[in-house]
Amino acid sequence: PLKKIVTIETKEGPVYLRLWKYYVYSYDQNNACPIILLDSNLPENQPSFQKLTDQLYRSDDVWWKIYQRVILGLGGVKALESLGYNIDRYHLNEGHAAFALAEKYVQLKDKNKFKEQQGKFAYTCHTPVEAGHDRFSVRDVSRILSDDYVQAACALGGESKNSDQINLTYMCLNSCEKVNAVALKHGEITRLQFSSFAAKIQSITNGIHIHTWLSEHFQNLFDRYQTTFGHWREHPENLANVRDLKTDRQFRADIFAAHQANKRNLIETLKHWHLKENVLTIGWARRIAGYKRPALIFHNVEQILRIAYEVGPLQIILAGKAHPNDDIGSAHIEEILDHIDQLNDHREVIKVLILENYDTYFGKLLTNSVDVWLNTPLPPFEASGTSGMKAILNGVVQVSTLDGWVVEAAEDDIGWIFGYQHSGSKIGREMELRLDEDSQALYNVLDTVTKLYYQMNREGEVDIESPWIDKMINCVGRSSFFNTQRMMEEYKTKMWQM
Ligand SMILES: *Cc1c(COP(=O)(O)O)cnc(C)c1O
Repeated sequence: PLKKIVTIETKEGPVYLRLWKYYVYSYDQNNACPIILLDSNLPENQPSFQKLTDQLYRSDDVWWKIYQRVILGLGGVKALESLGYNIDRYHLNEGHAAFALAEKYVQLKDKNKFKEQQGKFAYTCHTPVEAGHDRFSVRDVSRILSDDYVQAACALGGESKNSDQINLTYMCLNSCEKVNAVALKHGEITRLQFSSFAAKIQSITNGIHIHTWLSEHFQNLFDRYQTTFGHWREHPENLANVRDLKTDRQFRADIFAAHQANKRNLIETLKHWHLKENVLTIGWARRIAGYKRPALIFHNVEQILRIAYEVGPLQIILAGKAHPNDDIGSAHIEEILDHIDQLNDHREVIKVLILENYDTYFGKLLTNSVDVWLNTPLPPFEASGTSGMKAILNGVVQVSTLDGWVVEAAEDDIGWIFGYQHSGSKIGREMELRLDEDSQALYNVLDTVTKLYYQMNREGEVDIESPWIDKMINCVGRSSFFNTQRMMEEYKTKMWQM
């Protein structure tokens, strides 16, 4: 904890924020990045203010939402200034921090000078989904913030002249010199959604931190083939060299063995459930949100049963967390549980597990150990998605709709693509889930996937020449791009350099 306290004046009284400083270290411990955290849990705050920072992004209550954004935006700028940081470039990661712009605007005596400030601001838009874009009525904001802030918010983020809505996405798009979306496809969609800002919307595709998400067995594998991969930890782009090993029988056997070792680790961790090492195992784990269609694979239970009986047995593992205040998410989980009940009598051929408390531990466990990573978002609403990137890094093949990051990898044969594909200049409706058509398309693909899996792996007797192993190798090769090291270089040159 730092000694500095930051104060935000509101119409309901002052909000005091304690600052905490936390260092994130690079994997080699050679660099550290300070993170300043804002905390309202102080005795000098009135009781209702003490809880404001208890929970990340409450979505059920306008009063909470506005206060959290005010704390992040106004409080964030005040915190950095009070600590003496001289900031060249503020990067607003999501519209949630947009009030930082209002703070800067209010600080300026001559409002005409605000244009010069805009070069200091960069903004990343993270989702096309409606609920990801904050809008507040001027009336609600006026209950909390003083008139000069409300005027600033209206001037920068009013949906139109004299509009009664303040839109934090517009605030960022209007006032930030640099703007980006988080994958190529998402760039295209963001330009459609906000066409008057299209000229300045770039895209920088997300990546994952390989030092967090790479399993030990695959680290060892890459180290063993050092002549091919070189210093892959510093240069993950070297993983593309895996193509040179495609015809190396030893490597093909080794990559599959490394995968099976990961799978045994999963089986051991969930040992109570008696999963089997040589049964095709499909994983799905995400935040539960409507457009991600968590129940798609169970949409027609007859069909998944047919595959399990006629083609080969299946193990399906799901994990997810719904927002605690999100009824839709809970309804999806109920739906999945209903389907699983129907499958109870068929446990000999199909076993379904749903894990509670999905977190980064389970995220890592599942993404590196299942045979197939299932990705079912309704295009074009998955801005990027990252769990599949964790999977390909560990040689786990994809069954996915064509959306988000997958659009940039689909041609490299990292698995199978199915279902509705978005094109054209209309975005479509995120409520129109296309469950009938897309579940059918998914079953067609799963039929093929299951056949190929059991041709490749007959009770542990493995066909090293199988196209399945080609796909695993293609996955590793493509992960040379979807990592944070490449991503940060792009942010540096496209967004941060003056
Ligand atoms: C990777 C990860 C996510 C994000 O997954 P998406 O594919 O982007 O939906 C969410 N939660 C946890 C715990 C993760 O590890």
